[in-house]
Amino acid sequence: MVQDSGRALEIALQARDLGADLVEFRVDDLFSGDDADAENILDLVRRSPLPCIVTCRPTWEGGNCDADDAERVALFERLGTSDHPPRYIDVELAAYTRSANLRQKIDLAVEHPRQVRDVKTSLILSTHDFVSRPSDLTRRVLSMGAHDAAAVHKIAFNARSLRDNLELIDIIAERSKPTIALGMGEFGLMSRVLAPKFGAFLTFASVVPMEVTAPGQPTIRDLLDLYRFRAITPETRVYGVVGWPVEHSLSPLVHNAGFEAVGHDGVYLPMPIAVSEDGGRDKTGAYESFKATMLAMIDHRGLDLAGVSVTIPHKQNLVRLARERGWSIDDTSEACGAGNTLTITRTQGRVTADVRNTDAPAAAACLADVLGDLKGKRIAIVGAGGVARAIAVGVSALGADVLVANRTPERAAGLVADLAKAASANGAASAIEIDKLPSSGAHAIVNATPVGMAGGPAPDESPVPAAVIKDCPPDTVYFDTVYTPFETPMLALARARGARTINGVGMFVRQAAMQAQLWTGKPAPAQLFERLVREKLAGA
Ligand code: NAP
Repeated sequence: MVQDSGRALEIALQARDLGADLVEFRVDDLFSGDDADAENILDLVRRSPLPCIVTCRPTWEGGNCDADDAERVALFERLGTSDHPPRYIDVELAAYTRSANLRQKIDLAVEHPRQVRDVKTSLILSTHDFVSRPSDLTRRVLSMGAHDAAAVHKIAFNARSLRDNLELIDIIAERSKPTIALGMGEFGLMSRVLAPKFGAFLTFASVVPMEVTAPGQPTIRDLLDLYRFRAITPETRVYGVVGWPVEHSLSPLVHNAGFEAVGHDGVYLPMPIAVSEDGGRDKTGAYESFKATMLAMIDHRGLDLAGVSVTIPHKQNLVRLARERGWSIDDTSEACGAGNTLTITRTQGRVTADVRNTDAPAAAACLADVLGDLKGKRIAIVGAGGVARAIAVGVSALGADVLVANRTPERAAGLVADLAKAASANGAASAIEIDKLPSSGAHAIVNATPVGMAGGPAPDESPVPAAVIKDCPPDTVYFDTVYTPFETPMLALARARGARTINGVGMFVRQAAMQAQLWTGKPAPAQLFERLVREKLAGA
């Protein structure tokens, strides 16, 4: 959105330097309908460092411009017939179809098969809905097709779930003209990033995160550097992290870089699946939402979904869905009742899906790095939630004995009971109170709670009290699964005591590297993953 033309040119120059091909000037705020405003916009177009689209969105279509249709059309006429015309003008379908007179004026200013004048501007005919998928979407798409003066069709609506992207992808696939089909909002990112996979005419990105022209727009940097937009082709396979919320997940950062490093033709996206259909954060419908969205994405042949990392709150939903559909599930996911990795294979039209849990072996590997063989070692876990469960299963499979200390003793008892039944368990399990840890013989104490996490419920606290750490043997190893900050209060206390410590970055990196290897068939660049995560967290 352009507030003054000097700033608009500054941003256009930055966009060009960052790698944009085309710039859109949203002149809503620059145009009140008078001549001086039109001159100012003509000058902006003349000085643009890139070919440009001029859009003057009226308030009734979600924009800021109060000028009436006749005034806006007069602006477009002047732009289209000027010495330095914009490459495109964007006109709303509703304005274009409302009046034959205005339509005729626009047609005089743009290139099309009936045009007899020497004009260089093309028409983007657009339609938007900032609330949801419009109920008359099909009618709008057909109506656009009936106007031969339009060079490009643009459809944008607020995506309310990932499934809306699939319809947008289908619209592009069935297009008769170059088409832009975008989902707005956090659920629509997929349609924006995957534009080259489906032959969309273009995608929009912002230079400055706060200066987006539509909600959910990525920055040019993210589009080109994080998602490697230029490398996306129709053959590119699609991966992502499914969870709620996922906007701050580090997984896209490591997996996209990993694909590039090993030469794998894939792109990895955040894939939010809300816990209720209306985007609310209550638990209602969490499984139904997850199931419907996952199956729609897997069944969509064009999308080519090949792998998914699954995080909170859908890890248990993944195992439940896999059981329902008869997908293969590894012993670790069975024992945890939760999986974090889905791999989808398509052979001759047949789709197979495989569920694994890489959290468990990743955590066990972090402990084995310091303790050596875990067989016969005693590992105390603070917490009894998802991560505690994965760690208990992971270390028990390697023969370690597990002690569980949890705020809610019943949940600790439940984990111990489940572990006793798990086919993969090879060690003993029992519950313990935290202040009994010093005499428990534990070789390692693991924090599997959010205590000590920046932004969590108790960022400055250690889940294991300082007095307990002081009384534990000095060779006890402390492993915090929390990785923001790098050194949590528990690790700081342990280090002050001279004890060995492990932070949560290693576990995150290892579980991601195991996923990447499953998907690409090649060893993952774990050192690159670690460097990227550390750099990101240090700059956060
Ligand atoms: P979860 O299923 O919600 O379980 C949280 C556990 O923490 C529960 O046992 C809960 O106790 C306990 N807890 C919560 N707040 C507490 C408090 N104020 N005092 C004492 N105990 C408290 O969560 P999760 O999925 O297991 O994740 C736990 C942590 O693991 C996350 O916060 C994250 O930092 C870390 N994590 C690390 C990685 C990695 O790769 N490094 C990956 C995922 C998660 P109750 O049973 O009494 O409620």
